[in-house]
Amino acid sequence: MQKKKRWSNLVGEVFKARFVSRPNRFLVHCEMEQNKKIMAFLPNPGRLWELLLPGATLYLRQDGKGEGRLGTRKTQYTVLAVERKGSPIFLHTHETNGVAHYLLENDLIPPLKNAAIAQTEVRVGSSRFDFLLRHKGKELYLEVKSCTLFGNGVAMFPDAVTSRGKRHILKLAEMSRGGIRSAVLFIVHYPEVDWFMPDYHTDLEFSTAMLQCQRDVQFIPAAVSWNRDLSLDFVKTKILKIPWTYLQREVKDRGSYLLIVKLAKAAAIKIGSLHEIFFQAGYYVYVGSAMKGLSSRLARHRRQNKKIHWHIDYLTAGASQVIPIPIRSSEKQECEVAKSLSSMLQMGPRGFGSSDCECATHLFFSPTNPLESEEFHQLLQSFRMREPSGRLR
Ligand SMILES: [Zn+2]
Repeated sequence: MQKKKRWSNLVGEVFKARFVSRPNRFLVHCEMEQNKKIMAFLPNPGRLWELLLPGATLYLRQDGKGEGRLGTRKTQYTVLAVERKGSPIFLHTHETNGVAHYLLENDLIPPLKNAAIAQTEVRVGSSRFDFLLRHKGKELYLEVKSCTLFGNGVAMFPDAVTSRGKRHILKLAEMSRGGIRSAVLFIVHYPEVDWFMPDYHTDLEFSTAMLQCQRDVQFIPAAVSWNRDLSLDFVKTKILKIPWTYLQREVKDRGSYLLIVKLAKAAAIKIGSLHEIFFQAGYYVYVGSAMKGLSSRLARHRRQNKKIHWHIDYLTAGASQVIPIPIRSSEKQECEVAKSLSSMLQMGPRGFGSSDCECATHLFFSPTNPLESEEFHQLLQSFRMREPSGRLR
């Protein structure tokens, strides 16, 4: 039997720091001991909304120059992981294939037991896949994705729209229909989950592609567990269930949504049939729904030039930022969402967006950015991430 090697790419000392802010996708500001402020390279394109909260503990590695796309870098440190509920969550997506390599070599992915790695970074036409394996006497093309979004026992991918991910799935399905076996391995960096779903709230097209290709491509979500020294616990690899029937019903362009509307300056605004209302500067959270054509509704909210129709249009017209957050569902949940928000945020003007229902309002206010609040993300996840039974944990 082959001797098990430790996950060994992460040599050297690991530093800890507190997350402060993320000025762009690949850069974070953080603070080390004695309040030493540093910048670090973040090799992860995901949103990581619920992980990168102010004060979160980051695990950093000190690198010389040379890593990263530019060859020379301003930053000396690279983010490897972030802590959530005491466990490190691995964030370094450039090392995902290294992790997959380790898991395959040590036979830690049961559906791929005894697979041998024949080639890495293998080109097929204009696509490139992570691994070519030999498994059960046949070739198998394997693409690997890194998943860091989870809550309530459910892991979801992707965390931001990925047209590349969608193309990969469609290409693998086409190869499979031509007789070539293919699979996608989702490495879920957190063990306390049982279910895996495509994130149809964030990326409907990727999710639809996964559903369309469920018979052609083998989807393998494997949850791993990271120890605090950033070694992998190889006892705890767990294959997650994918609730295909549930997804068949839920993955559609309909449901409710939140709009986070930032007003940089206070303003008095006349809102349609309501009186002129004074709005203080800060963040407004609006709840709406579109049980048909949710994507185009959200695109409309973001557009500046449009005919004013709803109460919210008066507010978005003067906003410095509008962030739509879809909550796709077969059920109309907007009043339920509004009720949850009312226990957390300040109530907005009476009757705002709620002329057709019993709610006092569908607009709420927060002086600070709700996306920086853990409580807000928990609320959001309680609607976006539920087990197929509807159970929350
Ligand atoms: Zn309502």
